[in-house]
Amino acid sequence: MNITVFGATDHVTGSKTFIEFPDGLLMVDCGLVQGPLNADELNRSKLPFAASDIKAIIITHAHLDHSGQLPYLVKKGFQGNIYCTPATAKLMQVILMDSAGLVGEDYYSEQDVSVTLSMLKTIEWEETASVLGGSVKLRPAGHILGASSVYLSSQGKKIVLSGDLGRKDDPLIPPPRECLESNIVLMESTYGDRNREGDYRKELHSFLTTVSRESRIGIIASFAVARAQMLLTLIFEFYQRHPEEKVRVVLDSPMMKEACKIYKTFSHLTLHQHELFEAMSDLEIIEHQREWESLSRKSGPLIILSSSGMLTGGRIRRHLENWQNDPKAILFLPGYQGEGTPGRSMMEGQRQINFDSETTINWQGEVWGSDAFSSHADQAELLNWVANISKDTPLYLIHGEEESKQKLKQKLRELGHSTVMIPKKGDIINV
Ligand SMILES: [Zn+2]
Repeated sequence: MNITVFGATDHVTGSKTFIEFPDGLLMVDCGLVQGPLNADELNRSKLPFAASDIKAIIITHAHLDHSGQLPYLVKKGFQGNIYCTPATAKLMQVILMDSAGLVGEDYYSEQDVSVTLSMLKTIEWEETASVLGGSVKLRPAGHILGASSVYLSSQGKKIVLSGDLGRKDDPLIPPPRECLESNIVLMESTYGDRNREGDYRKELHSFLTTVSRESRIGIIASFAVARAQMLLTLIFEFYQRHPEEKVRVVLDSPMMKEACKIYKTFSHLTLHQHELFEAMSDLEIIEHQREWESLSRKSGPLIILSSSGMLTGGRIRRHLENWQNDPKAILFLPGYQGEGTPGRSMMEGQRQINFDSETTINWQGEVWGSDAFSSHADQAELLNWVANISKDTPLYLIHGEEESKQKLKQKLRELGHSTVMIPKKGDIINV
């Protein structure tokens, strides 16, 4: 059985792996490359196989860097089934529809997304599905709602693909289930070179109490899916225990609103079903222009949650524009800030930001950042995921910067794993 590792080899986005199954070619994840200047070019570059030659696709989770190229492949002639968990299918509806508005009609349209969504086939975790003459099982990977690791079996061989792995102490999502024995494991290595620092509860609580006690405007820039629901649940929990600190919390992002509905539907898959359900039921959402106009004249204490998380677009910008002259306003960035994004510039101390040719802001307030909220396993957690498999099982590290992969490889070797490889784009692995 041949495995072709294609995406997420040189960087962390654009995940794509191809596996030759008895009845045809299977693809695991179909992600968009995001971030690098030549991302658009990479997203249009030729794949090692024609779209019509791919017979089925498995999506580990809904993040755009794992699912965002699906509609393009469908447009190019892919006709098979797309397998994922029910929660991933729901989240993909929101994420891909939003993506259609960003990638440009010539890449794919909402119509292409609709066709793609009609091809989804859901599989529950731990259920074995027959696919292309082999079998597929999905197991919880932590990370975000519905995220899975993929267990493939065909002609007496077993392959594991980790997908993005979550952390053990995520406030909402249960930790990943440990890796099972197989002939080969392909694992992510986003945080392969470090262990997370900071305590997300402490950092959020400090933000919430500062806003309430000093009557500030607190603007949180969050990813609309997963991070926002985690923050809202943590905020809800904190106010339950400290009602004296409770201030008005407003949500301003249509995508966030949709993702909240989905998290509410699937709250039984989370660790805090009750709190999440309550938090998602009790939201003040900006729907109309007049609500925004009224909000824009308010003073603190007030908390606004909006997106995008790296300030690359979305309604967050109107809040920054509106409160840019308030030296007491706080912009809170509880997420990864990619290189070249306005969020990264703010974190690095820049205060004059050109959002586009017409909008420049001059932020007079404070900027608080945090790495503590990441939904990725750190080095110790990655090592723990493979702790119980045989030391002879070949491990292939993907989905990470070079430095992360090298450091993780070194650690795994020290722990006795005899074969740890870092494949290059286009490498073929024979199992
Ligand atoms: Zn992810």
